[in-house]
Amino acid sequence: MKTVIKNGTVITAGDTIKADVLIEGEKITLIGKDLPTEGCEVIDAAGKYVIPGGIDAHTHLDMPFGGTTTADDFFTGQRAAAFGGTTCHVDFALQQQGDTMVNGIKMWKAKAEGKAVIDYGFHVAITVPTMESVNEIPKLWDEGVSSLKVFQQYKGAFMVDDTTMYLAMQKAAESGILIMCHCENGDVTDIVTKQRIAEGKIEPKYHLDAHPAAIEAEASARAIALAEVTGANLYIVHMSCEESVEQLRIGRKRGAPVMGETCTQYMFKFEDDMRVPGYEGAKWACGPPVRKPKDAAYLWESLKDTTLLGVATDHCSFNYEGGKDGGKPGKELGKEGFHKIPNGIPGIEDRMYVMYHNGVNSGKISVNRFVDITSTGPAKALGLYPKKGTISVGSDADIVIWDPEKEMTISAKTHHMNVDYNAYEGMKVKGFPVRTILRGKTIVENGEWKQEKGAGQFVARGKAQLL
Ligand SMILES: [Zn+2]
Repeated sequence: MKTVIKNGTVITAGDTIKADVLIEGEKITLIGKDLPTEGCEVIDAAGKYVIPGGIDAHTHLDMPFGGTTTADDFFTGQRAAAFGGTTCHVDFALQQQGDTMVNGIKMWKAKAEGKAVIDYGFHVAITVPTMESVNEIPKLWDEGVSSLKVFQQYKGAFMVDDTTMYLAMQKAAESGILIMCHCENGDVTDIVTKQRIAEGKIEPKYHLDAHPAAIEAEASARAIALAEVTGANLYIVHMSCEESVEQLRIGRKRGAPVMGETCTQYMFKFEDDMRVPGYEGAKWACGPPVRKPKDAAYLWESLKDTTLLGVATDHCSFNYEGGKDGGKPGKELGKEGFHKIPNGIPGIEDRMYVMYHNGVNSGKISVNRFVDITSTGPAKALGLYPKKGTISVGSDADIVIWDPEKEMTISAKTHHMNVDYNAYEGMKVKGFPVRTILRGKTIVENGEWKQEKGAGQFVARGKAQLL
Protein backbone atom coordinates (compact mmCIF):
# COMPACT_ATOMS: atom_id res chain seq x y z
CA MET A 1 0.00 0.00 0.00
CA LYS A 2 1.19 3.49 -0.86
CA THR A 3 0.28 6.75 0.80
CA VAL A 4 1.34 10.30 -0.07
CA ILE A 5 1.16 13.10 2.45
CA LYS A 6 0.69 16.21 0.29
CA ASN A 7 1.09 19.95 0.82
CA GLY A 8 2.38 19.82 4.37
CA THR A 9 5.40 21.36 6.05
CA VAL A 10 7.83 18.63 7.03
CA ILE A 11 9.54 19.47 10.29
CA THR A 12 12.50 17.53 11.62
CA ALA A 13 15.02 18.36 14.32
CA GLY A 14 17.16 20.02 11.66
CA ASP A 15 14.91 21.32 8.90
CA THR A 16 11.61 22.88 7.98
CA ILE A 17 10.69 22.11 4.36
CA LYS A 18 7.63 22.23 2.16
CA ALA A 19 7.55 18.70 0.78
CA ASP A 20 5.43 15.65 0.13
CA VAL A 21 6.16 12.35 1.83
CA LEU A 22 5.66 8.96 0.17
CA ILE A 23 5.01 5.95 2.36
CA GLU A 24 5.25 2.43 0.95
CA GLY A 25 4.19 -0.28 3.36
CA GLU A 26 5.66 0.62 6.75
CA LYS A 27 8.48 2.87 5.53
CA ILE A 28 9.07 6.36 4.23
CA THR A 29 10.49 5.88 0.71
CA LEU A 30 10.58 9.35 -0.83
CA ILE A 31 10.46 12.98 0.23
CA GLY A 32 10.09 15.54 -2.53
CA LYS A 33 8.20 18.28 -4.31
CA ASP A 34 4.88 17.50 -6.02
CA LEU A 35 5.11 13.73 -5.72
CA PRO A 36 2.75 11.83 -8.05
CA THR A 37 -0.36 10.46 -6.37
CA GLU A 38 -1.35 7.71 -8.79
CA GLY A 39 -2.27 4.51 -6.97
CA CYS A 40 -1.81 6.19 -3.62
CA GLU A 41 -4.02 7.09 -0.73
CA VAL A 42 -3.63 10.86 -0.43
CA ILE A 43 -3.48 12.70 2.89
CA ASP A 44 -3.86 16.44 2.45
CA ALA A 45 -1.70 18.18 5.04
CA ALA A 46 -2.17 21.74 3.77
CA GLY A 47 -1.63 24.18 6.62
CA LYS A 48 -0.33 21.37 8.82
CA TYR A 49 3.03 20.19 10.08
CA VAL A 50 4.31 16.72 9.28
CA ILE A 51 6.47 15.63 12.21
CA PRO A 52 7.98 12.38 13.46
CA GLY A 53 5.81 10.52 15.95
CA GLY A 54 6.61 11.29 19.56
CA ILE A 55 8.93 9.01 21.52
CA ASP A 56 8.47 8.81 25.27
CA ALA A 57 11.73 7.59 26.75
CA HIS A 58 10.36 6.92 30.21
CA THR A 59 7.05 5.29 31.15
CA HIS A 60 5.61 2.78 33.61
CA LEU A 61 2.64 0.81 32.33
CA ASP A 62 1.17 -2.12 34.25
CA MET A 63 3.69 -1.55 37.01
CA PRO A 64 3.34 -2.94 40.53
CA PHE A 65 3.89 -0.44 43.35
CA GLY A 66 3.17 -0.77 47.05
CA GLY A 67 0.47 -3.43 46.90
CA THR A 68 -1.29 -2.16 43.77
CA THR A 69 -0.51 -1.69 40.07
CA THR A 70 -0.71 1.34 37.83
CA ALA A 71 -4.13 2.30 36.49
CA ASP A 72 -2.90 2.13 32.88
CA ASP A 73 -1.86 -1.12 31.28
CA PHE A 74 -0.17 -1.46 27.90
CA PHE A 75 -3.44 -1.05 26.03
CA THR A 76 -4.93 1.97 27.78
CA GLY A 77 -1.56 3.69 28.20
CA GLN A 78 -0.43 3.20 24.62
CA ARG A 79 -3.83 4.14 23.20
CA ALA A 80 -3.72 7.39 25.18
CA ALA A 81 -0.18 7.99 23.93
CA ALA A 82 -1.35 7.60 20.33
CA PHE A 83 -4.17 10.13 20.85
CA GLY A 84 -1.49 12.55 22.00
CA GLY A 85 0.82 11.95 19.02
CA THR A 86 3.27 9.51 20.60
CA THR A 87 4.01 6.40 18.51
CA CYS A 88 6.78 4.73 20.51
CA HIS A 89 7.83 4.54 24.14
CA VAL A 90 10.40 2.74 26.24
CA ASP A 91 9.07 1.27 29.46
CA PHE A 92 10.91 -0.05 32.51
CA ALA A 93 11.06 -3.77 33.21
CA LEU A 94 12.08 -4.63 36.76
CA GLN A 95 14.30 -7.47 37.89
CA GLN A 96 12.31 -9.40 40.52
CA GLN A 97 13.96 -10.39 43.82
CA GLY A 98 15.59 -13.81 43.49
CA ASP A 99 15.32 -13.74 39.71
CA THR A 100 17.29 -12.59 36.67
CA MET A 101 17.04 -9.40 34.63
CA VAL A 102 16.35 -11.41 31.48
CA ASN A 103 13.30 -12.92 33.19
CA GLY A 104 12.22 -9.43 34.22
CA ILE A 105 12.31 -8.37 30.56
CA LYS A 106 10.35 -11.47 29.52
CA MET A 107 7.76 -10.71 32.19
CA TRP A 108 7.29 -7.17 30.85
CA LYS A 109 7.17 -8.37 27.25
CA ALA A 110 4.31 -10.66 28.28
CA LYS A 111 2.44 -7.72 29.81
CA ALA A 112 2.52 -5.89 26.44
CA GLU A 113 1.83 -8.92 24.27
CA GLY A 114 -1.61 -8.80 22.66
CA LYS A 115 -2.34 -5.35 24.12
CA ALA A 116 0.15 -3.09 22.36
CA VAL A 117 -1.14 -0.52 19.89
CA ILE A 118 2.04 1.54 19.35
CA ASP A 119 5.67 0.39 19.24
CA TYR A 120 7.70 -0.03 22.38
CA GLY A 121 10.98 -1.10 23.88
CA PHE A 122 12.23 -1.81 27.38
CA HIS A 123 14.90 -0.67 29.76
CA VAL A 124 15.60 -3.09 32.59
CA ALA A 125 16.39 -2.23 36.20
CA ILE A 126 19.03 -4.11 38.18
CA THR A 127 17.62 -4.59 41.68
CA VAL A 128 19.50 -7.66 42.96
CA PRO A 129 23.02 -6.55 43.91
CA THR A 130 25.00 -9.68 43.04
CA MET A 131 27.79 -10.59 40.62
CA GLU A 132 25.29 -12.88 38.86
CA SER A 133 23.24 -9.81 38.01
CA VAL A 134 26.30 -7.85 36.91
CA ASN A 135 27.50 -10.70 34.69
CA GLU A 136 24.10 -10.85 33.05
CA ILE A 137 24.45 -7.35 31.59
CA PRO A 138 25.90 -8.37 28.16
CA LYS A 139 22.97 -10.77 27.71
CA LEU A 140 20.53 -7.86 27.59
CA TRP A 141 21.47 -7.47 23.92
CA ASP A 142 19.85 -10.86 23.20
CA GLU A 143 16.57 -9.44 24.50
CA GLY A 144 16.74 -6.30 22.35
CA VAL A 145 17.44 -4.19 25.43
CA SER A 146 20.34 -1.72 25.31
CA SER A 147 19.87 0.22 28.55
CA LEU A 148 20.19 -0.68 32.21
CA LYS A 149 18.56 1.30 34.99
CA VAL A 150 20.12 1.71 38.40
CA PHE A 151 18.39 3.30 41.37
CA GLN A 152 20.18 5.38 43.98
CA GLN A 153 16.72 5.70 45.58
CA TYR A 154 14.07 3.42 47.19
CA LYS A 155 16.22 1.86 49.89
CA GLY A 156 15.17 -1.66 50.75
CA ALA A 157 13.45 -2.11 47.40
CA PHE A 158 15.26 -1.05 44.19
CA MET A 159 18.26 0.87 45.49
CA VAL A 160 21.74 -0.47 44.82
CA ASP A 161 24.89 0.55 46.68
CA ASP A 162 27.85 2.27 45.03
CA THR A 163 29.78 -1.00 44.78
CA THR A 164 27.04 -2.59 42.69
CA MET A 165 26.62 0.59 40.72
CA TYR A 166 30.32 0.76 39.97
CA LEU A 167 30.50 -2.89 38.89
CA ALA A 168 27.37 -2.56 36.78
CA MET A 169 28.74 0.54 35.07
CA GLN A 170 32.06 -1.16 34.40
CA LYS A 171 30.29 -4.11 32.77
CA ALA A 172 27.94 -1.81 30.87
CA ALA A 173 30.92 0.14 29.51
CA GLU A 174 32.51 -3.12 28.26
CA SER A 175 29.32 -4.31 26.61
CA GLY A 176 28.05 -1.04 25.13
CA ILE A 177 24.98 -0.87 27.34
CA LEU A 178 23.65 2.56 28.37
CA ILE A 179 23.29 3.19 32.10
CA MET A 180 20.20 5.08 33.20
CA CYS A 181 20.08 6.37 36.72
CA HIS A 182 17.47 7.59 39.18
CA CYS A 183 19.64 10.06 41.05
CA GLU A 184 18.59 10.79 44.62
CA ASN A 185 20.38 9.83 47.83
CA GLY A 186 18.17 6.98 49.04
CA ASP A 187 19.75 6.79 52.50
CA VAL A 188 18.73 10.37 53.22
CA THR A 189 15.19 9.88 51.91
CA ASP A 190 14.87 6.76 54.03
CA ILE A 191 15.94 8.36 57.29
CA VAL A 192 13.98 11.60 56.82
CA THR A 193 10.87 9.58 55.97
CA LYS A 194 11.23 7.52 59.14
CA GLN A 195 11.76 10.65 61.24
CA ARG A 196 8.72 12.47 59.85
CA ILE A 197 6.45 9.46 60.25
CA ALA A 198 7.68 8.97 63.85
CA GLU A 199 6.81 12.64 64.49
CA GLY A 200 3.30 12.01 63.20
CA LYS A 201 3.87 14.18 60.14
CA ILE A 202 2.01 12.05 57.64
CA GLU A 203 0.47 14.51 55.14
CA PRO A 204 1.52 14.47 51.47
CA LYS A 205 3.56 17.69 51.83
CA TYR A 206 6.16 15.90 53.98
CA HIS A 207 7.13 13.90 50.91
CA LEU A 208 8.98 17.08 49.90
CA ASP A 209 11.12 17.01 53.08
CA ALA A 210 12.34 13.52 52.19
CA HIS A 211 13.40 14.52 48.67
CA PRO A 212 15.30 17.83 48.85
CA ALA A 213 16.98 19.16 45.72
CA ALA A 214 20.43 18.87 47.33
CA ILE A 215 20.25 15.06 47.47
CA GLU A 216 19.25 14.88 43.81
CA ALA A 217 22.25 17.06 42.96
CA GLU A 218 24.58 15.00 45.16
CA ALA A 219 23.47 11.70 43.66
CA SER A 220 23.72 13.12 40.14
CA ALA A 221 27.29 14.25 40.77
CA ARG A 222 28.12 10.81 42.22
CA ALA A 223 26.66 8.98 39.23
CA ILE A 224 28.52 11.28 36.84
CA ALA A 225 31.79 10.61 38.67
CA LEU A 226 31.23 6.85 38.39
CA ALA A 227 30.49 7.22 34.68
CA GLU A 228 33.76 9.11 34.25
CA VAL A 229 35.86 6.53 36.02
CA THR A 230 34.18 3.48 34.46
CA GLY A 231 33.68 4.99 31.00
CA ALA A 232 30.00 3.99 30.94
CA ASN A 233 27.60 6.21 29.04
CA LEU A 234 25.13 7.62 31.54
CA TYR A 235 21.60 8.92 31.01
CA ILE A 236 20.13 10.59 34.08
CA VAL A 237 16.36 10.19 34.15
CA HIS A 238 13.71 12.68 35.32
CA MET A 239 15.97 15.58 36.31
CA SER A 240 13.73 17.93 38.26
CA CYS A 241 15.71 20.93 39.45
CA GLU A 242 18.37 23.53 38.85
CA GLU A 243 20.73 21.98 41.41
CA SER A 244 20.96 18.61 39.64
CA VAL A 245 20.98 19.96 36.08
CA GLU A 246 23.82 22.25 37.17
CA GLN A 247 25.81 19.09 37.97
CA LEU A 248 24.93 17.71 34.55
CA ARG A 249 26.11 20.93 32.95
CA ILE A 250 29.42 20.85 34.86
CA GLY A 251 29.97 17.16 34.05
CA ARG A 252 29.28 17.65 30.35
CA LYS A 253 31.61 20.63 30.24
CA ARG A 254 34.33 18.41 31.68
CA GLY A 255 33.66 15.83 28.96
CA ALA A 256 31.96 13.25 31.18
CA PRO A 257 29.89 10.75 29.14
CA VAL A 258 26.56 11.93 30.50
CA MET A 259 23.21 13.20 29.26
CA GLY A 260 19.90 13.89 30.94
CA GLU A 261 16.16 14.13 30.48
CA THR A 262 13.48 16.02 32.32
CA CYS A 263 9.74 15.34 32.45
CA THR A 264 6.77 17.48 31.48
CA GLN A 265 5.34 17.75 34.98
CA TYR A 266 8.42 19.48 36.39
CA MET A 267 7.62 22.52 34.28
CA PHE A 268 4.01 22.77 35.48
CA LYS A 269 3.55 21.27 38.94
CA PHE A 270 5.20 22.71 42.00
CA GLU A 271 5.81 22.27 45.72
CA ASP A 272 2.85 24.55 46.46
CA ASP A 273 0.58 22.09 44.65
CA MET A 274 1.63 19.48 47.22
CA ARG A 275 1.12 21.83 50.16
CA VAL A 276 -2.60 22.41 49.60
CA PRO A 277 -4.74 21.55 52.62
CA GLY A 278 -6.27 18.07 52.68
CA TYR A 279 -5.06 15.11 50.71
CA GLU A 280 -5.06 16.56 47.17
CA GLY A 281 -1.25 16.95 47.21
CA ALA A 282 -0.92 13.17 46.89
CA LYS A 283 -1.73 13.52 43.19
CA TRP A 284 1.69 15.08 42.64
CA ALA A 285 3.80 12.72 44.76
CA CYS A 286 6.60 11.39 42.60
CA GLY A 287 10.33 10.96 42.94
CA PRO A 288 12.16 13.27 42.50
CA PRO A 289 9.31 15.50 43.64
CA VAL A 290 7.85 18.53 41.95
CA ARG A 291 9.97 21.63 42.65
CA LYS A 292 9.78 25.42 42.38
CA PRO A 293 8.84 27.70 39.48
CA LYS A 294 12.47 28.87 39.30
CA ASP A 295 13.45 25.26 38.53
CA ALA A 296 10.93 25.12 35.69
CA ALA A 297 12.52 28.19 34.14
CA TYR A 298 15.94 26.56 34.44
CA LEU A 299 14.67 23.33 32.86
CA TRP A 300 13.24 25.20 29.86
CA GLU A 301 16.54 27.01 29.44
CA SER A 302 18.43 23.70 29.65
CA LEU A 303 16.16 22.08 27.07
CA LYS A 304 16.76 25.03 24.79
CA ASP A 305 20.55 25.07 25.14
CA THR A 306 20.76 21.23 24.74
CA THR A 307 22.09 20.54 28.25
CA LEU A 308 18.98 18.35 28.57
CA LEU A 309 18.41 16.07 25.58
CA GLY A 310 14.69 15.59 25.91
CA VAL A 311 11.45 15.49 27.78
CA ALA A 312 9.75 12.26 28.84
CA THR A 313 6.70 11.71 31.05
CA ASP A 314 7.64 9.13 33.68
CA HIS A 315 3.95 8.29 33.16
CA CYS A 316 2.92 6.26 36.19
CA SER A 317 -0.80 6.54 36.80
CA PHE A 318 -2.72 5.80 39.98
CA ASN A 319 -6.30 6.92 40.53
CA TYR A 320 -6.77 9.69 43.06
CA GLU A 321 -9.90 7.96 44.26
CA GLY A 322 -8.73 4.42 43.70
CA GLY A 323 -10.30 1.28 45.07
CA LYS A 324 -13.84 2.44 44.29
CA ASP A 325 -16.35 -0.08 42.92
CA GLY A 326 -13.83 -2.89 43.12
CA GLY A 327 -11.23 -0.86 41.19
CA LYS A 328 -7.51 -0.94 41.84
CA PRO A 329 -6.25 0.91 44.90
CA GLY A 330 -4.57 4.23 44.11
CA LYS A 331 -3.37 7.40 45.81
CA GLU A 332 -5.67 6.89 48.82
CA LEU A 333 -3.24 4.24 50.09
CA GLY A 334 -1.10 7.13 51.33
CA LYS A 335 -3.71 8.50 53.75
CA GLU A 336 -1.97 6.44 56.44
CA GLY A 337 1.29 8.25 55.68
CA PHE A 338 2.99 10.02 52.77
CA HIS A 339 5.49 7.16 52.46
CA LYS A 340 2.65 4.89 51.30
CA ILE A 341 1.40 7.13 48.48
CA PRO A 342 1.87 5.27 45.18
CA ASN A 343 4.40 7.51 43.44
CA GLY A 344 3.75 8.85 40.00
CA ILE A 345 1.94 11.32 37.76
CA PRO A 346 0.06 10.49 34.55
CA GLY A 347 0.97 12.31 31.33
CA ILE A 348 1.72 9.95 28.45
CA GLU A 349 -1.11 11.51 26.43
CA ASP A 350 -0.41 15.18 27.15
CA ARG A 351 3.34 15.58 26.66
CA MET A 352 3.42 16.61 23.00
CA TYR A 353 0.80 19.36 23.00
CA VAL A 354 1.70 20.66 26.45
CA MET A 355 5.33 21.06 25.36
CA TYR A 356 4.37 22.47 21.97
CA HIS A 357 1.94 25.04 23.33
CA ASN A 358 4.08 26.18 26.23
CA GLY A 359 7.37 25.84 24.41
CA VAL A 360 6.83 26.78 20.77
CA ASN A 361 3.87 29.15 21.00
CA SER A 362 5.52 31.08 23.80
CA GLY A 363 8.82 31.31 21.90
CA LYS A 364 10.85 29.35 24.48
CA ILE A 365 11.98 26.77 21.91
CA SER A 366 11.83 26.48 18.12
CA VAL A 367 9.51 24.01 16.46
CA ASN A 368 12.60 22.03 15.36
CA ARG A 369 13.85 21.86 18.93
CA PHE A 370 10.36 20.69 19.94
CA VAL A 371 10.72 17.77 17.50
CA ASP A 372 14.20 17.12 18.83
CA ILE A 373 13.28 16.95 22.53
CA THR A 374 10.11 14.93 22.02
CA SER A 375 11.31 12.48 19.35
CA THR A 376 14.71 12.73 17.66
CA GLY A 377 16.83 13.20 20.78
CA PRO A 378 15.23 10.30 22.69
CA ALA A 379 15.47 8.11 19.55
CA LYS A 380 19.22 8.77 19.27
CA ALA A 381 19.88 8.42 22.99
CA LEU A 382 18.04 5.12 23.19
CA GLY A 383 19.30 3.43 20.02
CA LEU A 384 16.07 3.79 18.02
CA TYR A 385 17.46 6.19 15.42
CA PRO A 386 17.10 6.44 12.40
CA LYS A 387 14.47 3.68 12.36
CA LYS A 388 12.43 6.03 14.51
CA GLY A 389 12.64 9.68 15.53
CA THR A 390 12.85 11.40 12.17
CA ILE A 391 11.30 11.81 8.76
CA SER A 392 13.80 10.43 6.31
CA VAL A 393 13.98 7.85 3.56
CA GLY A 394 14.16 4.37 5.09
CA SER A 395 12.72 5.36 8.44
CA ASP A 396 9.55 3.81 9.85
CA ALA A 397 6.55 5.85 8.74
CA ASP A 398 5.73 6.96 12.29
CA ILE A 399 4.30 10.34 11.49
CA VAL A 400 2.03 12.85 13.15
CA ILE A 401 0.03 15.41 11.22
CA TRP A 402 0.07 18.38 13.54
CA ASP A 403 -2.41 21.22 13.27
CA PRO A 404 -0.71 24.32 14.71
CA GLU A 405 -4.06 26.15 14.84
CA LYS A 406 -6.18 23.53 16.54
CA GLU A 407 -7.16 24.38 20.10
CA MET A 408 -8.07 22.02 22.88
CA THR A 409 -8.74 22.24 26.60
CA ILE A 410 -7.17 19.43 28.58
CA SER A 411 -9.40 17.58 31.01
CA ALA A 412 -9.66 14.23 32.77
CA LYS A 413 -13.26 14.18 31.50
CA THR A 414 -12.09 13.82 27.91
CA HIS A 415 -8.61 12.32 28.11
CA HIS A 416 -7.98 8.68 27.16
CA MET A 417 -5.71 7.69 30.02
CA ASN A 418 -7.34 5.26 32.44
CA VAL A 419 -6.98 7.58 35.41
CA ASP A 420 -9.34 9.96 37.21
CA TYR A 421 -7.30 13.17 37.18
CA ASN A 422 -5.06 15.16 34.84
CA ALA A 423 -1.99 17.18 35.75
CA TYR A 424 -2.86 19.82 33.15
CA GLU A 425 -6.58 20.07 33.92
CA GLY A 426 -8.07 23.18 32.33
CA MET A 427 -4.95 24.09 30.34
CA LYS A 428 -5.92 25.44 26.94
CA VAL A 429 -3.43 24.43 24.28
CA LYS A 430 -3.06 25.52 20.67
CA GLY A 431 -1.37 23.00 18.38
CA PHE A 432 -2.66 19.44 18.34
CA PRO A 433 -2.16 16.11 16.54
CA VAL A 434 -4.97 15.49 14.05
CA ARG A 435 -3.65 12.24 12.65
CA THR A 436 -1.26 9.67 14.14
CA ILE A 437 0.40 7.23 11.76
CA LEU A 438 2.28 4.15 12.97
CA ARG A 439 4.43 2.32 10.40
CA GLY A 440 2.28 3.66 7.56
CA LYS A 441 -1.07 2.95 9.16
CA THR A 442 -3.35 5.69 10.48
CA ILE A 443 -4.17 4.74 14.06
CA VAL A 444 -5.92 7.93 15.19
CA GLU A 445 -7.68 10.40 12.90
CA ASN A 446 -9.45 13.49 14.24
CA GLY A 447 -10.03 11.82 17.57
CA GLU A 448 -11.24 8.58 16.05
CA TRP A 449 -9.53 5.34 17.08
CA LYS A 450 -8.48 3.09 14.18
CA GLN A 451 -5.93 0.68 15.57
CA GLU A 452 -6.27 -3.00 16.36
CA LYS A 453 -5.31 -4.25 19.78
CA GLY A 454 -2.04 -6.17 19.58
CA ALA A 455 -0.74 -4.44 16.42
CA GLY A 456 2.00 -2.53 18.28
CA GLN A 457 5.45 -4.11 18.05
CA PHE A 458 8.38 -4.59 20.36
CA VAL A 459 11.45 -2.83 18.96
CA ALA A 460 14.89 -4.32 19.55
CA ARG A 461 17.10 -1.30 20.13
CA GLY A 462 20.63 -0.61 18.99
CA LYS A 463 23.46 1.16 20.75
CA ALA A 464 22.73 4.51 22.33
CA GLN A 465 24.34 7.65 20.98
CA LEU A 466 25.82 9.99 23.54
CA LEU A 467 24.25 13.36 22.82
ZN1 LIG B 1 10.24 6.35 36.35
